[in-house]
Amino acid sequence: MADNSTEKGLFRLDLEEIAEQIRNCTKCRLSGNRTNAVPGEGDGNTDVLFVGEGPGAQEDQQGRPFVGRAGNKLTEILDSVSFQRSEVYITNVVKCRPPENRAPKTDEVNSCIPYLEAQIAEINPSIIVTLGNAATKTLLETDEGITSTRGKFYSWRGEIQIFPMFHPSYLLRNPSKEKGSPKYKTWQDIKKVKKALTSR
Ligand code: SF4
Repeated sequence: MADNSTEKGLFRLDLEEIAEQIRNCTKCRLSGNRTNAVPGEGDGNTDVLFVGEGPGAQEDQQGRPFVGRAGNKLTEILDSVSFQRSEVYITNVVKCRPPENRAPKTDEVNSCIPYLEAQIAEINPSIIVTLGNAATKTLLETDEGITSTRGKFYSWRGEIQIFPMFHPSYLLRNPSKEKGSPKYKTWQDIKKVKKALTSR
């Protein structure tokens, strides 16, 4: 039998095997209310991985990440620098929808994080864009909020760079495009990601 564990205790499975485990997972209470688990989607050979907080109602219905209004906003952000959704990988910290779109609880994140770790190990991106507080705080292991962490590159486990950005749903609540607004900053931030990737 193959040994799928690594020195970090992660699974070494391909993305479809990871997705299958997620769809069958009952490790935390979020499995109880889901219609569909949402493993993630995109190009498994991409250099850039986008990580949000957790699925919302539309995502839960469709089993796909970022397909509701926030998803449309993310697509708009990607379009602004000519990224296709199909050429990046998009997922979340927790793969099942928290009820009433509340933030995931610490024990839920702890139960689910091995799946994200396994996806990162399999994709091996150059850059992980964390969207919003939950993904940023979880991966950077910081208590600092997104307002102070966004727009900068952080070295992570040696070769990967983490780049926090505002969550698209935050931009829906703050639609101003004025200079200095969250939306304005986000459009600057995604350009930094594109530039970092194209200069490699
Ligand atoms: S949120 Fe993650 S750990 Fe919890 S049931 Fe869903 S896949 Fe499993």
